[in-house]
Amino acid sequence: MDLLQISNLYVNFTTKAGVVRASDGVNLEIKQGESLCLVGESGCGKTIVALGIMRLLPQNAQISGKIWFKGKELLSLGKEEMRRIRGREIAMIFEQPATCLDPVFTVGDQIAEAMRVHERCSGKESKEKAIDLMEMVEIPSPQKRFKQYPHEFSGGMQQRAMIAIALSYNPSLLIADEPMTFLDVTIQAQIMELLKDLVSKFRTSLLLITHDLGVAAEMCDGVAVMYAGEIVEKGRVSEVFKYPKHPYTKALLGAISNDGLKPIKGSVPELTSLPSGCKFHPRCPLVRDVCREARPEMKNGVRCHLWEKS
Ligand code: SF4
Repeated sequence: MDLLQISNLYVNFTTKAGVVRASDGVNLEIKQGESLCLVGESGCGKTIVALGIMRLLPQNAQISGKIWFKGKELLSLGKEEMRRIRGREIAMIFEQPATCLDPVFTVGDQIAEAMRVHERCSGKESKEKAIDLMEMVEIPSPQKRFKQYPHEFSGGMQQRAMIAIALSYNPSLLIADEPMTFLDVTIQAQIMELLKDLVSKFRTSLLLITHDLGVAAEMCDGVAVMYAGEIVEKGRVSEVFKYPKHPYTKALLGAISNDGLKPIKGSVPELTSLPSGCKFHPRCPLVRDVCREARPEMKNGVRCHLWEKS
């Protein structure tokens, strides 16, 4: 059974510029213990899907569809029940840890506080557990670091602290939204390794959001490629990256190939004025008349008219 199943998730925002179709019928599944990567260019709606799962979308979002998690439909839950699930069963780490840590409390207190709230343990016990967690996420000198404030931590150390807070709840699902974006390359590799180890140790399912296909290939079992608010291809990482079928997936992989960078022509469309038919058609080298007229259905993991016919 799937741990998480998203079906027909639509998220719109009404703005002065028009209706922003940020998620346009997204369907996704994650099994217990599986790691799935949601990839795509910036602005394609990946974060909106994550915030939808967490029920953290802005109030003006118009949402429809179903998000099933452990048999519960999250979009229909009361605020209190959702608050219990958020954190305890589904945790999220963000791209900018500095904005998530409270500058007026020590890092150790923030990790221990998470323990106190969710594990209902005493002050002494929560401190011991927090120090253990800091050690587990490889924060050096955890006894000393426990008493330090976020501004005394580097970006990489702040992200380790956020991972410790997220894992303090022992969640079934961890959502990591571009967790390496603002870190330099060597720290990125360390955080990637750390996340990979911890996810396997805690048997946590992972939804990793990234624009970096190298990270996706390294970390995940499954991949879903998103373009302009919809999933255009999904499957096992080993299959999709070796034998991509959708022209957009091929273009993304081509853009990082060893033969030199091949930029994808054109740009991601405005979510307020999406192209007719296939949303990728203005950029697709294989476009034909039907692509401009009819939206392709997802079939066998690919949303493309050419693939439908083959
Ligand atoms: Fe390209 Fe047509 Fe397939 Fe869209 S449906 S990706 S335009 S071939």
